[in-house]
Amino acid sequence: MSRAILPGATIGMLGSGQLGRMFAIAARRLGYRIHVFSPESDSPTGHVADLEVQANYDDLDAVAEFAQNVEVVSFEFENVHAATIDAVERYAPVHPSGRVLYTAQQRIREKTFLRNAGIPVTPFREIYTQAEIDQVTEEDVPAVLKTAAWGYDGKGQVKVETLNELQAAWDQIDNAEAVLERFVSFDCELSVVATRTHDGSMAFYGPMENRHHNHILDVSVTPLDISPAMAEEAKEIARTILTELEVVGVLCVEFFLTTEGKLLVNELAPRPHNSGHLTVDAHLSCQFEQQVRTVCGLPLGSAEQKRPAAMVNLLGDLWQDGEPNWRNALAEPNLKMHLYGKREARVGRKMGHMTVLADTPQEAVERALAARQSLTNRG
Ligand code: AMP
Repeated sequence: MSRAILPGATIGMLGSGQLGRMFAIAARRLGYRIHVFSPESDSPTGHVADLEVQANYDDLDAVAEFAQNVEVVSFEFENVHAATIDAVERYAPVHPSGRVLYTAQQRIREKTFLRNAGIPVTPFREIYTQAEIDQVTEEDVPAVLKTAAWGYDGKGQVKVETLNELQAAWDQIDNAEAVLERFVSFDCELSVVATRTHDGSMAFYGPMENRHHNHILDVSVTPLDISPAMAEEAKEIARTILTELEVVGVLCVEFFLTTEGKLLVNELAPRPHNSGHLTVDAHLSCQFEQQVRTVCGLPLGSAEQKRPAAMVNLLGDLWQDGEPNWRNALAEPNLKMHLYGKREARVGRKMGHMTVLADTPQEAVERALAARQSLTNRG
């Protein structure tokens, strides 16, 4: 990049959910203007943007017009089609690049890239046609069959316990291209959120430990009670990935820590990640500020953690019996509440999150869970 894009300039954001919203808030704090593009209106990002453009991602004329009015573009979700990125790139740079997206938005490409880079991944088979299904053996199961493209939060995934369940599982995902991943027994799931500038300098958050519920992230906590060598290894893997892909921006690496004590990469997200939301309150510069800095060609901020922290997600389920009791949770003084301004609370929909800082990670988790529990105590 020849020159930095300085405060006062306009940044474009593809996608208008909570990740775009928190990016826009960080960008505004630094004095940038934000234009957001998505098929939605009255969106979480639109609420804090200077301009909300409502159009489909395949409306390439609208995409081109959007790109002509901004100096740089980033995105908040990886399922952006290549044609959309191409249309943007004619007028404004996109970070991370189309190549990073191309690799991370399809599981076969992603896992092949990781394997070729010498990074340990869950053993897998590539499934394209019935022929590959027929070649699967007893050795490959139990396994998880995952569609190669467009999956998130456990969608497009079927557990395959025995070989004779495989055909039905593949039919269930409409015989789509897929990976058949050996089922891994793990002690926990971890993530590292990493960020890299044009000149190759990097900063890392975590590892965070991530606990899921119904395939959706439920709790993230850091720092972890794992050996410094293991934490270093996770960051080194992230360093290799960002270097190999020449990422400019933020990328999250999700890991399994197996019961044998090995780190395996599960998947990549080429953007800020839900497990990094706690960085907004617990770190000197958060993942969204780093996204702003990196896409604009500015130096990274410090990723130093101020105190142990835990984040809990707030799903639409909490609204089932009426408005959550905000006063209860806000009575916890070490808590920071983040609500995304979504109008409709549906089961499983991410509506917000809360982060608690404490003296120990355990205490942070306990207090965050107690605060969330108190939301449904309406008495
Ligand atoms: P993913 O969409 O790949 O992140 O998978 C969603 C969740 O399913 C993960 O966070 C794990 O809890 C579980 N999972 C996915 N792949 C495997 C695997 N190969 N072995 C065991 N559990 C898995």
